[in-house]
Amino acid sequence: MQNSINGQRSTQDYQQADAAHHIHAFLDQKALNAEGARVIVRGDRLNLWDNEGKRYLDGMSGLWCTQLGYGRADLAQAAAAQFAKLPYYNMFFHTTHPPVIELSELLFSLLPAHYSHVIYTNSGSETNEVLIRTVRKFWQVEGKPDKKIMIGRWNGYHGSTLAASALGGMKFMHEMGGVIPDVAHIEEPYWYAKGGDLSPAEFGLQCARQLEDKILELGADRVAGFIAEPFQGAGGMIFPPESYWPEIQRICRKYDVLLCADEVIGGFGRTGEWFAHQHFGFEPDTLSLAKGLTSGYVPMGGLVLSKRIANALVERGGLFAHGLTYSGHPVAAAVAIANIQAIQNEALVPQVKNDSGPYLQSLLREVFSQHPLVGEIQGAGLVAALQFTEDKTTRKRFANENELAWRCRTLGFEEGVIIRSTLGRMIMAPALIANRSELEELVEKTQKAVDRTAREIG
Ligand code: PLP
Repeated sequence: MQNSINGQRSTQDYQQADAAHHIHAFLDQKALNAEGARVIVRGDRLNLWDNEGKRYLDGMSGLWCTQLGYGRADLAQAAAAQFAKLPYYNMFFHTTHPPVIELSELLFSLLPAHYSHVIYTNSGSETNEVLIRTVRKFWQVEGKPDKKIMIGRWNGYHGSTLAASALGGMKFMHEMGGVIPDVAHIEEPYWYAKGGDLSPAEFGLQCARQLEDKILELGADRVAGFIAEPFQGAGGMIFPPESYWPEIQRICRKYDVLLCADEVIGGFGRTGEWFAHQHFGFEPDTLSLAKGLTSGYVPMGGLVLSKRIANALVERGGLFAHGLTYSGHPVAAAVAIANIQAIQNEALVPQVKNDSGPYLQSLLREVFSQHPLVGEIQGAGLVAALQFTEDKTTRKRFANENELAWRCRTLGFEEGVIIRSTLGRMIMAPALIANRSELEELVEKTQKAVDRTAREIG
């Protein structure tokens, strides 16, 4: 076995070893092995280089997580200093440590005042696992142990573990390994595909009222919470109509159903607010965090709880029968602190709101509004989606839209840009540090990939 730290190996050599040992995420392994995985070896700002020396502009911040881009010495130094001082300790045995305390102080200084507590995890999936147990525990403490059911949305994504994938609404994921009991789903607010003749505002209300119907069908005394992404990421970067979130919030309050926002993608500045629920103007009871918390440099997630939930758990909850070995890991916490401080010091959230975000959104509209293949452009801040369409006036979607978008993604790689396909949509979410010329490159290369896709269809 050769060691890549001491000497670079050939791409083919890496690919063979990769194929011999890995089950990759969300693809057919055999098909991947036939072509070989791209071997990424280095990153700087928004740039990645593969083992052949080819550069890609990463329009996806990895997986929506590298808010600060690649190659940040400040994050590396924060990790190295913490490794030297206290590389590991836990929050069992009546113990705690400064990095996790200081991270929480910083986190709650960013959050609205009605949140007070956090349970740290190592990923978004784990956070949503913890969410289910915590919400059920809360209702037990409140004397309502039958309030157990979580309602999610079809095509929502909340992670890949058993309970998190059950909360999500990806049916093809449910088929692998099954689901858990006491989870239900309602329709996603995807106006372009499902709105028919309704205006977006009417459709938003109709989708939200499905939540009320579902609560009434199941019984409000059995429904614990509703979970959704403020904008739906993996399921197509769907931005709900403006009428949607206020109505969802009204319904949750009316039936005392906890409103659980999955901020794993939307958190940490993505929309130009610190958290995406602030962009949409609603007040969740819980926030699921991960990804941008550490810019993805080390794994870390967390479940943020409102004071109402935290007070009940702390004052009347007794034993909280949960704990993770790496919860609040000191190195992850140190990196998260450095990450949040850099986002603050570089004023990246206002920059996304007032400059880079509007710039990206206007570039996309300039280039794609009249494009025959693009029926809708959605987005806010540094997150956007292009909807492929066969007919712009009737909003007809291609029967093979998944394949088309996948093809466009592949052409993007050829053009040197990483954009992601999901359903019939191309999505992008560049790092928050992106400057104007990087955004121009992102849009230019995306345009080349979309044009080539259009030419291939003929
Ligand atoms: N929630 C949302 C909204 C996500 O997009 C993701 C991952 O993409 C997750 C949860 C799961 O996070 P992780 O992959 O860190 O488990």
